[in-house]
Amino acid sequence: MDHLVQAEKLKLLYHQSFPAIFASLFTGILVCVLLWPVQQHSLLLGWYGVLLLSALARGLLFIRYWYVRPDDASVLSWEKPYFITLLASSLIWGIGAVVIIPAESLLHQVVVFLFLVGMAGGALGVYSAHRAMTLATIGCVLLPMSFWFLMQWQLIPLLLVLGTLLFLVTVFKAGAVLSVAMDRSFRLGHELEAARAAAEYRAHRDALTGLYNRRAFYELGEGMMSNAGEGLMAMIVADLDHFKRINDSWGHPAGDKVLQEVGEIYLGCLRNDDLCARLGGEEFGVLLRVDSLEQACAIAEDLRLCLENQGIDCDGEKLFVTASFGVAAGHEKLEALFRDADSALYRAKMDGRNRVECAHLH
Ligand code: GH3
Ligand code: MG
Ligand code: MG
Repeated sequence: MDHLVQAEKLKLLYHQSFPAIFASLFTGILVCVLLWPVQQHSLLLGWYGVLLLSALARGLLFIRYWYVRPDDASVLSWEKPYFITLLASSLIWGIGAVVIIPAESLLHQVVVFLFLVGMAGGALGVYSAHRAMTLATIGCVLLPMSFWFLMQWQLIPLLLVLGTLLFLVTVFKAGAVLSVAMDRSFRLGHELEAARAAAEYRAHRDALTGLYNRRAFYELGEGMMSNAGEGLMAMIVADLDHFKRINDSWGHPAGDKVLQEVGEIYLGCLRNDDLCARLGGEEFGVLLRVDSLEQACAIAEDLRLCLENQGIDCDGEKLFVTASFGVAAGHEKLEALFRDADSALYRAKMDGRNRVECAHLH
């Protein structure tokens, strides 16, 4: 779960920080315009060039992320490049500011520092999902110039640094609450999704065999019937012969095991697109697309032979079970196919079991 929450946070960072690149570049232009009259142009252009390169690296990383769209399992390997490029551009701001501020103009120094405070505030908002990243970014942006101000040992810059740091500590602490809430919300989201998936599985699957249950058979079957269009659909109903005797002589758990194995045997004989379900008790249903009723009956005969020949291990002994099959094919509603296949199954039981009976094609 922790891995999933981490993955969710990282995805959020990738999704929301693309605009931060443009914000950084735009603010860089403002700083250059501000310092243009008082600083060497080559220095400003050089700094902006480096900033541009780091923005390009981040931009390419984001584009690649969008292109690859990593899943939850692999997204964490995208954390390192994100962190490295973010730190690089934060340092270009933090250390770069110390390099480009004019040594003799306090006003320009203070205004540049305020720009940095703005950048750090923005980082708090954008990267708050990841506390370590937020802290590192703010540190890289603000600490170099704060140290520089401390070295100057003048009252105004010192007060400015002190006030800013106090403000940031307060906001960062408040951000902790936000981060915990975000964590909880991601976690809840995942738990909810897992619970929903489990409930959906339980609602559509038979707990014993893992096959679809009767309800799912009807839901999916109706869809298959309407998608078939002009194509012919067939329904096979299979009922184990004298299954009660297995329960009576081997016990209910052995009967359960037989039901599970029978489900697997049927699945093994069918195609991936065929719908196979446990309709209830020891009755199974198969819905499949066929070219003719004869083909459907041949498939049912295959199933019958598969079951008849494959012994089922039970307490070290091989149990051989058989089933009777009713088959119907047509274009009409699933219920009608079911009714016809059931009548055919009844005839198969009456005629001695372990056999396939086919309804007439409508
Ligand atoms: P027939 O050949 O006429 O179908 O005879 P049969 O004994 O198979 O049919 P019957 O309807 O008389 O008995 C079905 C048995 O299936 C009775 C019931 O206890 C058993 N059964 C139904 N569901 C389960 C289950 O989930 N586990 C086990 N072990 N037995 C089950
Ligand atoms: Mg039976
Ligand atoms: Mg039955």
